[in-house]
Amino acid sequence: MRFHVLTLFPEMILAGMNTSIIGRAIEKKLLDIEAVNIRDYAFNKHQKVDDYTYGGGAGMLMQAEPVYLCWEAVCSRLPKPARTVYLTPQGRVFNQKLARELAEEEELVFLCGHYEGIDERVIEEIVTDPVSIGDYVLTGGELPAMVVMDAVARMVPGVLSNEASSESETFSDSHLLEYPQYSRPEVWHGKRVPEVLLSGHHQKVDAWRREQQIRRTFLYRPDLLHGADLTNKEWQMVREWKKEKRAAPEHEAETDGLLRNEDIKHEDI
Ligand code: SAM
Repeated sequence: MRFHVLTLFPEMILAGMNTSIIGRAIEKKLLDIEAVNIRDYAFNKHQKVDDYTYGGGAGMLMQAEPVYLCWEAVCSRLPKPARTVYLTPQGRVFNQKLARELAEEEELVFLCGHYEGIDERVIEEIVTDPVSIGDYVLTGGELPAMVVMDAVARMVPGVLSNEASSESETFSDSHLLEYPQYSRPEVWHGKRVPEVLLSGHHQKVDAWRREQQIRRTFLYRPDLLHGADLTNKEWQMVREWKKEKRAAPEHEAETDGLLRNEDIKHEDI
């Protein structure tokens, strides 16, 4: 899979992506990431890429022409037209489903904005997928592009050493959060690893993990449970937890050690 990132800060992309799992995937040639400097396509005296906005307003805007020329130069080298993802807080909110969809592509072009953003006319002309990484505003599209590339890259076969390791993960098809995991030592700060995980009994381990997944999802992301494929017995278990939760005084509402997300509504279950 090949990523082409159009940016004013290529060093940021290369530094961020050339490490750890993604860095190794690049070395193994499973991934190829090029970061192209939009400034190299600003053919004016001072290689200027931004200007004031028409109509007034604070801040500078990236101009259409250098962005267009940069995109055109990159696309002219591709074997076929590729999707162009513009990172913007106004886009479709990124999630695992979109990551899976983008992972089907062989080449992806990412456009990173900066300052107040980019002249609308070039966005209209070249962007196929406006994508946001969440409802907050960052200074540039480089971090969002890295977030999207990382999530997409780990779906490329061979990038994760253990193919199975993404299957039971949070936001996989199960719509359940992942179960808690433990490594050595067996006792740390007086806390023991759950006995069942030391039993060597695979069926019991699977059953425990499944229940933990459902419980975690119930506690932290009950909104996801709607899409989960639970048995009648498991739904019954969820209803019992819900009753217990209602009966418990507010300060005792269980959080399993994690902070409770106050935004999450339990009423829907
Ligand atoms: N004026 C723009 C607006 O209100 O929509 C925000 C511009 S932002 C300061 C500069 C650049 O950061 C954007 O062009 C975009 O590339 C990137 N960016 C900021 N927040 C983002 C987010 N939540 N998701 C994706 N990209 C983001």
